[in-house]
Amino acid sequence: MPVFLHDTMSREKRPLLPKPGREIYGMYCCGPTVYGPAHIGNFRTFTVQDVLRRTLEVGGLKVKHVRNITDVDDKTIRGAQAAGQTLGDFTKKWTEKFHADCKALGLLAPHVEPSAVVHIPQQVAMIKALVDRGHAYVAKDGSVYFKVCSCPDYGKLNHIDFSKLETQTENSAGEANDADEYERESASDFALWKSRKPEDGANFWPSPWGEGRPGWHIECSAMSLAHLGATFDLHGGGIDLCFPHHENEIAQSECATGVKGFAAHWFHSAHLMVEGEKMSKSKGNLYTLDELVAKGFSPMEVRYTLISGHYRSSLNFTMKGVDDSRSALAKLERGADRLLAAAGFTRAEFAAPVAQEVQTSWGRFAKAWEVLQDDLNIPGCLGQVFTVLAEKDEPSAEQARQDVSGLAKILFALGLELFVVKAEVAIPADVADLGARRWAAKQSKDFAAADQLRKDLATLGWTMLDRKDGYDLKKS
Ligand code: AMP
Ligand code: ZN
Repeated sequence: MPVFLHDTMSREKRPLLPKPGREIYGMYCCGPTVYGPAHIGNFRTFTVQDVLRRTLEVGGLKVKHVRNITDVDDKTIRGAQAAGQTLGDFTKKWTEKFHADCKALGLLAPHVEPSAVVHIPQQVAMIKALVDRGHAYVAKDGSVYFKVCSCPDYGKLNHIDFSKLETQTENSAGEANDADEYERESASDFALWKSRKPEDGANFWPSPWGEGRPGWHIECSAMSLAHLGATFDLHGGGIDLCFPHHENEIAQSECATGVKGFAAHWFHSAHLMVEGEKMSKSKGNLYTLDELVAKGFSPMEVRYTLISGHYRSSLNFTMKGVDDSRSALAKLERGADRLLAAAGFTRAEFAAPVAQEVQTSWGRFAKAWEVLQDDLNIPGCLGQVFTVLAEKDEPSAEQARQDVSGLAKILFALGLELFVVKAEVAIPADVADLGARRWAAKQSKDFAAADQLRKDLATLGWTMLDRKDGYDLKKS
């Protein structure tokens, strides 16, 4: 059975299969803008995309995953200048940081990771095709704009009647758009090429319309064409990209190539929120992976948190949520250990998905797999996994072998690695001593002393988490 996934354009759940006659499933995801560390909101989107790719692969599809690097735009140029670095040095530093975070979170590297700067010639060629075909015009200052009224089905992804569109002042998450474009014939037209401005410093490139740099939207059209062709299977991004970015991509690509059906399927994931607001750099309410690791959480616990809600609903981020993920992972480890023991396997065999004869088996996890394939219902899938693990009756060795095979594949699809040795934050000696004394006070039911010791720990910035059989100390 193929994976079924909601498609933003048709608003239906549709099967994910490569186009007839093709063997490889082409998937393009808008990548990070590399002007600082990505926050865990960005990583919610990238992690959900990673689960989709893994699920397709576990289901037997060959996937070509392309995810670009946005290394030229207003933010990267501004950031490089503020840091006194060349754009190349500045974006290299943040691209490397992004790669390190992706690795820690267990994200598979995309098969191709194109850079926008490297693809400037392809962007210029595409803009030229748009001008030649009458879909774009050159303004007096040498900027080039896409003529929205030349594209009759503009708005089809977002179901907007373009003739009623006054201006693109907001994106699909209701945030203000960059409004630094002028000399447009119509307020809804958008920049394909921005003529050179003094604030761009040394960051400009030649073009038939004079020196300048590409607008943001054109990069994905040019890079998807270069690496997946004029039409491909699936395009993904966070919900804020649905309008105008993806609407503009469709218009540019279809008008430049003359081929309709740019992406067969549109996959948008909802946002990670903090107290009801989108986590974003501009709001200053963000967490980076490093900040959570410094608080004592492991990247796997962060990953579990990011995938714990359904991708179509926004997810509220809380520290309690990451704590719950720690408990859930520990529960998965205990369940896996029980199954491994019943099957006569070791933990090492669990990592390298088990004996030949049970590789195709899902055991009692068939339902969990079915749920995952239905619109990537990760919380539903995890619910099924825990239901099976909670069953009281000890499975037979044969049953346990099948189960281990099923569970290993599901955890691989979710990218959840068990039995990872955690790099703990070093616990200072005075904190460890307070922790031991508080535990002893609690054991001897001296609750007043235990309460006081908890307060002493809090003063030093530490929290004690009690378990039945012991405790953990965590930086608050
Ligand atoms: P950017 O680096 O800003 O270009 O964003 C990279 C990806 O992160 C895009 O797919 C965005 O839609 C996505 N994104 C940005 N903020 C959030 C958030 N709070 N929750 C989920 N995804 C986000
Ligand atoms: Zn894009």
